[in-house]
Amino acid sequence: MTMEQLHALFLAHPVICTDTRKITDNCLFFALKGPNFNGNEFATDALEKGAAYAIIDEEAYKTSERHILCDDVLQTLQQLATYHRKKSNAKVISLTGSNGKTTTKELINAVLSKKYRTVATKGNLNNHIGVPLTLLSIEKDTEIAIVEMGANHKKEIEFLCNIAQPDFGYITNFGKAHLEGFGGVEGVIQGKSELYDHLMAHDKYIFMNADDPVQLEKLGSYIKKMGFSTRDHQYYNIKFIEANPYVVLEVEGTRMETQLIGKYNFPNCCAAILMGKYFNVPLEDIKTALASYQPQNNRSQIIEKNGVKIILDAYNANPTSMRAALENFNAMQAENKTLIIGDMFELGPTAAEEHQTIADLAESLGFQTVFLVGKNFYGTKTPLAKFDSFDGLKEHIQKNPLQKGMVLIKGSRGMALERVLDLV
Ligand code: ATP
Ligand code: MG
Repeated sequence: MTMEQLHALFLAHPVICTDTRKITDNCLFFALKGPNFNGNEFATDALEKGAAYAIIDEEAYKTSERHILCDDVLQTLQQLATYHRKKSNAKVISLTGSNGKTTTKELINAVLSKKYRTVATKGNLNNHIGVPLTLLSIEKDTEIAIVEMGANHKKEIEFLCNIAQPDFGYITNFGKAHLEGFGGVEGVIQGKSELYDHLMAHDKYIFMNADDPVQLEKLGSYIKKMGFSTRDHQYYNIKFIEANPYVVLEVEGTRMETQLIGKYNFPNCCAAILMGKYFNVPLEDIKTALASYQPQNNRSQIIEKNGVKIILDAYNANPTSMRAALENFNAMQAENKTLIIGDMFELGPTAAEEHQTIADLAESLGFQTVFLVGKNFYGTKTPLAKFDSFDGLKEHIQKNPLQKGMVLIKGSRGMALERVLDLV
């Protein structure tokens, strides 16, 4: 089957499924392979459950006309996505970075959907499968697609750019995330920069954080760009007012409030405002969009329970976002602060040093109570209370309940520190 024929089939059945537990009627089933499963084995089941066709890549499973055989299902999905994206009139905005991609993507979508028909990455589906799926969600009348791209190794963003062929792009930040896969901070900068490199090579438009020296250096002489800055008047000026706890800012004399905690969310808001400005969304609409967006999935939420105010930031953590969270918590006005932080994963050989730095920072900021949780933090030299597992922390809190006041909870996904909520 040619790509043109497959695309025609997709237009007639524009819903893609890759999981037989979530088959919808008349979808196209793509029989992807994973480390522990072979989608080909599920193709017939998918058809029986209502899929219109199943795309497979092992001949042995082709038992009907509705089994469509190709060389490689994943590649076919990616190629179909690119084909579909090229046929559509939608502008594609890609974003990547170490932290804040999903939040920024949601904010951009909130702002741009005030004026345009948009689609955006669902949740965090930002990899070599998620990006194609996002592109394939572009409909006939879609005007803008906002595509989150994640990576933990070099060349991955370049690969995703080749699939998505973005018209616009933005990098949230270059931080200490996935150091293991990227081979250090320089590797992160190179890896994430692949988005800007791709855009520059194709003469496309770039949005930038002009307060970030790395971005300034990289893009200083590039013409097709628009940046925001809190200080440099060559760029679009946005003023940070406060994050106490919610981010408030001012742009063109208009005060904008948000439901986002933490100063680290300020640049995320700025990126959305900048794009709103570029795409001529009225300032009042940008303001409403920012005010109404609520973060989800344990990303900086405030939860009140039995007199304890909990900032739940247990979605993920790395040295950059951990530092930002600690400094932000320190700057907040509240009595009796408790800090509960868990291990940061994927740091490779720098893990011991990075955990020590954060332990020292936590100590120096002088919170009333600090609990460090996890094997890495347990290995640090610190006078702070530390537990080598969640169970240790649990036992301690059960004997010594958390005091009324403010609690910040942050750690890597694998630490699942949202479990602390059950102990309050
Ligand atoms: P993932 O790699 O899982 O896709 P992400 O880049 O999409 O993550 P978000 O899910 O938006 O990031 O945010 C995750 C956490 O990162 C937030 O809860 C917050 O602690 C932190 N964070 C968000 N924005 C920034 C930022 N601009 N700088 C530093 N840390 C940030
Ligand atoms: Mg994300």
